[in-house]
Amino acid sequence: MANLVYIKEHKEKARITPIEVFPDPKTAIVLTYQHTGAVNTPIVSVGDTVAIGEKIADSKERVSAPVHSPISGKVTKIGDVFNSCYEECSEAIWIENDGKKTMDKTLTPISESELKSTSKEVLLKIIREAGIIGLGGAGFPTSVKLSLPADKPIKTLIVNAAEGEPYDTADERLMIEKTANLVRGVRVVRQILGNPKVIVATKVNKVEAVPKLQEAFSKEPDTEVIAKHLTYQQGDASVLQKAMLKYEVAPGKRSYEMGTIVQNVATINAIANAVFEGEPLISRVTTLNGDIAEPKNLLVKIGTPVSNILSQYKVDTKDIRQVVIGGVMMGHTLPTLEAPVTKRTSSIIVFSKTSYKPGQKETACIHCSNCIQSCPVRLHPIMIYSAIMKGDMAKAEKLWVKDCIACGTCSYVCPSKLPLSGTICAARH
Ligand code: SF4
Ligand code: SF4
Repeated sequence: MANLVYIKEHKEKARITPIEVFPDPKTAIVLTYQHTGAVNTPIVSVGDTVAIGEKIADSKERVSAPVHSPISGKVTKIGDVFNSCYEECSEAIWIENDGKKTMDKTLTPISESELKSTSKEVLLKIIREAGIIGLGGAGFPTSVKLSLPADKPIKTLIVNAAEGEPYDTADERLMIEKTANLVRGVRVVRQILGNPKVIVATKVNKVEAVPKLQEAFSKEPDTEVIAKHLTYQQGDASVLQKAMLKYEVAPGKRSYEMGTIVQNVATINAIANAVFEGEPLISRVTTLNGDIAEPKNLLVKIGTPVSNILSQYKVDTKDIRQVVIGGVMMGHTLPTLEAPVTKRTSSIIVFSKTSYKPGQKETACIHCSNCIQSCPVRLHPIMIYSAIMKGDMAKAEKLWVKDCIACGTCSYVCPSKLPLSGTICAARH
């Protein structure tokens, strides 16, 4: 078993800060490709007028999820911008806000009383057409994840309410402020999956969220809220599954093949919004934290440039050393502040030049084995890293490079400051 590595959370202020609605951007920059799967193509052209929630890009491929306009206005440009989901530039649609807040009503919601009589196919179609993807970071289209073969019954639905990433508190605030919505979102997923047992898996130190979850789910059938002392790494779906159910997903297998599905709370919240409110995924809660005097949890429109958010809160951009998007452990440094918020932007973490203390430089491996002992999926990071550095990808594959969950722990514990996780993550695709 891997050594448990505790990483300081830095959540004190943000976790007690209520969700604030961030103003709509004057110009939204909506990336057409934000999920894992087939690339979308635009279905609007420059000059078109779009409404809030109107579909603007889609794909006919099965593993895909459409994107929608977060504001009403005119399409002014289709071009490339930095995509933090993939760490490279990709296609986006620029929309100039007309301030009219015209709504698109294509998505037809159901009422809560209609849920029991609504077929799985109808629910999956709403989830698909709402563009919902895994908001915990993976970005896999949710309708595809929940469309399982009949011979693979699901015994357990784990609701991932662990939010392991340091600084991130967006999910925690959803647990506190949108508890009732989470309950009805879980009802939808549970019905689609044939009513499995539900475990809402969270951490004991989410002191405001835990009693709210316990109270809200207390009357739900076959449902348990389990609050444990979990490390950062146990926020990952596969590692969380092991912590809760005591078994691991076999190498090369998916968790549904073992009878379990893990869904993040933010995804559950988006499902409830789509099914019961007819709201496609055009906004999400993201945490603004780091070297920020007043950390925030913001309900922000997808497509809002990060620069808008920083200027709204008067963050001195000249003093910025680094902005990390999507979690300090698993996320990416932004090369440009023009990059927009995506469906997968769980947080925006700002590090200033003022607070920067130069760290130790990279040196040779001292064979301490820290990286091996701490890898939560029991890989040998130094060996994989060495194989990659020698260009021996066949060896890296034999060492299970593809099983890396990109948690960043090996780099965190390495006394020689070798860029282990970045190198391994980049090579695993
Ligand atoms: S980044 Fe990958 S190799 Fe490194 S500790 Fe995490 S899972 Fe293991
Ligand atoms: S933690 Fe760093 S120094 Fe220690 S064995 Fe791994 S790569 Fe080498």
